[in-house]
Amino acid sequence: MKFSKTLMTMLAAGMMALSSQAMAQDKGTIGISMPTKSSARWIADGDNMVKVFTEMGYGTDLQYAEDDIPNQLAQIENMVTKGVKVLVIAAIDGTTLSTILQQAHDTGIKVIAYDRLIRDSANVDYYATFDNFQVGVIQAQSIEQGLGLREGKGPFNVELFGGSPDDNNAYFFYDGAMSVLQPYIDSGKLVVQSGQMGMDKVGTLRWDGAVAQARMDNLLSAYYGDKRVDAVLSPYDGLSIGILSSLKGVGYGSADQPMPIVTGQDAEVPSIKSMIAGEQYSTVFKDTRELAKVTAQMVDALLAGKDVPVNDTKTYDNGVKVVPSYLLKPVSVGRDNWKEILVGSGYYTEDQVTN
Ligand code: BGC
Repeated sequence: MKFSKTLMTMLAAGMMALSSQAMAQDKGTIGISMPTKSSARWIADGDNMVKVFTEMGYGTDLQYAEDDIPNQLAQIENMVTKGVKVLVIAAIDGTTLSTILQQAHDTGIKVIAYDRLIRDSANVDYYATFDNFQVGVIQAQSIEQGLGLREGKGPFNVELFGGSPDDNNAYFFYDGAMSVLQPYIDSGKLVVQSGQMGMDKVGTLRWDGAVAQARMDNLLSAYYGDKRVDAVLSPYDGLSIGILSSLKGVGYGSADQPMPIVTGQDAEVPSIKSMIAGEQYSTVFKDTRELAKVTAQMVDALLAGKDVPVNDTKTYDNGVKVVPSYLLKPVSVGRDNWKEILVGSGYYTEDQVTN
């Protein structure tokens, strides 16, 4: 009895020594603040980052704020208090973090804006994202191609949806799309029957699918009683699904009333299923595994005092500074290439999108 007690004490002491050694080798904790779990992409982003950071020898503190701004602030405050080495933040509202980021900076914590630019703060060290303007270009090109606009077809009716006005990306998506659509609107080949254009009129707060669905209901009843809508610019799959339900509600999606061209973004499972069913027309795939990898490489270089990988030092002015960025390439996904792009790359199994 006495012996086993001693043995246990020795074992416990040994384990403590081991774990403090492990801690000494640990490269520190990275705070990862994500906006919401309501969209699958952010869950994938969080999971991928935890995986890559863990492989590199970092600890992680991953938090989701469920699209609640005070919640995100409190979570980041907590990470700062705990003394994380770096904050990786996908902001809900890109303009609300200045005070907490100042505190982070004052205690030597570095900040990486993840996917969404953080605005109005000097304390954003780097930005890892996709080419957001190009996302909008790809969305509009699928409308162009789906309607045959390049071949001179038209006129067609189109309605426009924008993302959340507090998300810097939403403006890039919209501007990218309009760089393709505006010439057709000017020439009369595309007509916005509602006249609703510009992010102030077409934005969708918090990227909420129900808000988009309600707006589509209103557009259809106010402007399309005796007209057909031929295309809908949707910047995100969650909105596309809402828009498609609204369209189905008034009879679109049948042989004599085919679905309009509806775009999207993120290649979320319900949208791929919808594409396979002939409803949603296209989406934009942004490989969150790559974004996680680039972000982890940025963090690792930053902490080691090495050159941080960036490929754009001009585009992302946050109101105080141009934030050095790494932009990944978004990929156009349609009914003909989803399998090759999404299953072929191992992002999804075929089972996941077909069952
Ligand atoms: C992201 C998109 C996403 C949207 C809604 C944007 O900031 O870049 O990928 O569709 O937020 O979550």
